[in-house]
Amino acid sequence: MTAEIISGTEIRKEILAEIKEDVAKMKAEGKRVPGLVTILVGESPASISYVTLKIKTANELGFKEIQENQPEDISEADLLALIDKYNNDPEIDGILVQLPLPDQIDDKKVLNAINPDKDVDAFHPVNVGRLMIGGDEAIFHPCTPAGIQEMIVRSNTETSGAEVVVVGRSNIVGKPIAMMMAQKGIGANSTVTIVHTRTKDLAAHCKRADILIVAAGVPGLVKPEWIKPGSTVIDVGVNRIGMNEKTGKAILSGDVDYDAAKEIAGKITPVPGGVGPMTIAMLMKNTLKSAQYALKNS
Ligand code: NAP
Repeated sequence: MTAEIISGTEIRKEILAEIKEDVAKMKAEGKRVPGLVTILVGESPASISYVTLKIKTANELGFKEIQENQPEDISEADLLALIDKYNNDPEIDGILVQLPLPDQIDDKKVLNAINPDKDVDAFHPVNVGRLMIGGDEAIFHPCTPAGIQEMIVRSNTETSGAEVVVVGRSNIVGKPIAMMMAQKGIGANSTVTIVHTRTKDLAAHCKRADILIVAAGVPGLVKPEWIKPGSTVIDVGVNRIGMNEKTGKAILSGDVDYDAAKEIAGKITPVPGGVGPMTIAMLMKNTLKSAQYALKNS
């Protein structure tokens, strides 16, 4: 039987509609709307395109959006001062610094300067620690793992007691999603295994996964025979495997052999149109949560 397709494009629409409704409610109650500042240094076309998409989405949701476009030669001190300004701005709930930053700036120093309560990317060590503690402590989850968990929940996949295998142990995907799935709570309570390049028998681990989350960045890494029949497969990989001559756009593929896997799995995410579209939606959800948290505590 062909697997049910978990569409990130559709779930994203649902999430954005829910956020929009919450923002409209805040406005109707006379409250301020969520505020997001996007800090872009330099003019890298890729960074401009990411930031533009974030700004567009924030504006469509009715957020207060501030764009801070800074020159390539901005000093570290000036960038830190800018962050400090927004750390102390009561109308700003989320501060986004688009990476990479130029060589004269220490990325880590800049990201760690963001007030953890406004760190909607959730990369600050304080938020990593909060995620580890779990429960109410974890105000924000990093956006890609949060998107993965949301897809699992909204596709009604049973997580409690499920064997979850995560391929990859990066700080932005593998490690946080593994910890999130192992926590107590909705969409979690799973038994989690993390596998990586030093794992002895990758196939054996994947084969017993009720939920297989693959974030390796290796096209076709997961073979169809590694997939447990009826399981849920979340393919996070985004790999450029060629160029469409007609459109001039990159041809993308995930880490799983999708066409064959969808005949074995119970549910599966496509690439593109799976986890990818979820990330910005979760960024917006984090900004909304940050505003709600700030309003509650003011
Ligand atoms: P990363 O930092 O390169 O980490 C990859 C992880 O996969 C590493 O832990 C690595 O193991 C493991 N790995 C690589 N090859 C493997 C193999 N042959 N067998 C077992 N494990 C292997 O990558 P990332 O940032 O987590 O991203 C992973 C993929 O997700 C990429 O394709 C990326 O483009 C995509 N991604 C998508 C989104 C999105 O859709 N929004 C967001 C983030 C990332 P070692 O630690 O042992 O080296």
